Amino acid sequence: MPDYKELTKEATGILTDLIKINTVNPPGNEIEAVKYVAKLLDREKITYEIIESESGRASIIARVKGNGSKKPVMMMAHLDVVGVEPEKWKFDPFSATIKDDYIYGRGAIDDKGMAACELLIMLEMQRKNVPLKRDLILTLCADEEAGGSKGIEFLVNKHLDKIKAEFVINEGGRIIVNEQTKKVGFVGIQNTEKVPVNIKLVAKGTPGHASVPLPDNCIFKLSKAQARLADWQPPVKLNETTRAFFKGLSRSATFPESFYMENLEHPELGAFCAAQLTKKEPILGSTMRNSVSPTILKSGIRSNVIPSEAEVNLNVRLLPEEKLEDFIQQLREVIKDTSIEIVYNKPEHPDSPTSPVESELFRAMAKVGQELWPEAVTVPFMSTGATDAAYLRAK
Ligand SMILES: [Zn+2]
Repeated sequence: MPDYKELTKEATGILTDLIKINTVNPPGNEIEAVKYVAKLLDREKITYEIIESESGRASIIARVKGNGSKKPVMMMAHLDVVGVEPEKWKFDPFSATIKDDYIYGRGAIDDKGMAACELLIMLEMQRKNVPLKRDLILTLCADEEAGGSKGIEFLVNKHLDKIKAEFVINEGGRIIVNEQTKKVGFVGIQNTEKVPVNIKLVAKGTPGHASVPLPDNCIFKLSKAQARLADWQPPVKLNETTRAFFKGLSRSATFPESFYMENLEHPELGAFCAAQLTKKEPILGSTMRNSVSPTILKSGIRSNVIPSEAEVNLNVRLLPEEKLEDFIQQLREVIKDTSIEIVYNKPEHPDSPTSPVESELFRAMAKVGQELWPEAVTVPFMSTGATDAAYLRAK
């Protein structure tokens, strides 16, 4: 039995150190964090390789050997973090201040906490000389927050042999603690994620002087299309993951939410249940369907000139199995204006299959969840956001 108290102390120390190394992306400069990790690996004589996609944009791949009877398993996390608005922070975001058992710092949860835990697991495996069937790989990446082209995408394209594994454990998933009971209500193991894509609606009209209103004013046209979109809710579409998710969640939820969750696909009640849940928890609304959020609106150059063009950017999150063309067709039907152009590129994130729930890794994680929190349900989980795991699932 590992000494969890000691390990917690050590993990806290590693996390604190990692937070103090500023890896805001851009510019990232993950090399500084990589050097720190390398020092700890050196101490335990663990072999590793540092790979720079460009100067300063480093990832590190370490490996502890198994006996080779099974294929490797990889632990993965990203070392870069998003930017900060320091004036909105109670503590210096790079101080890793500890208060009431919480560590405050940029990247504490996304994703340096995960990096610290995975690193410690690797160190501990080596120290204790734990016999392994599988090679254990640790990959700490650059550039996740900017899409991963200088991190995991680079590794997949150029160094796949170094990270080939049967299973990968990456960020995502959720453990939700019930606010009232303080007990873990559910353990969500993320096995798939939605696909982000930006779609523009472009309305065109005759330009002119504002003193003479014109019937085809592009701003009015676009506004009408947007109003129709605002009143539209894409239909509920559950997949294997979200069906199991809602079913599991309903067991720890209270009435009436539990009832709504159980009846999302009911032929008569489904729409009502979906609407109620969406109102209560917008993230559940996004989990059950494709989603659309307008994010950028552009038009006009002068206050007295009717512009010739108006456009809105729609940030769309497609369900993993959804075909973009089918969704575009739905959009066309909703906005009911054939003169509005719909402009889009194919999603930047690769189309990637859902990781199966019937797997050794999923079962192992569910078992651990059960041991740690016997009262909680363990369910597969689809993230509404996107991570760099899509690049690996695609392989
Ligand atoms: Zn992250």
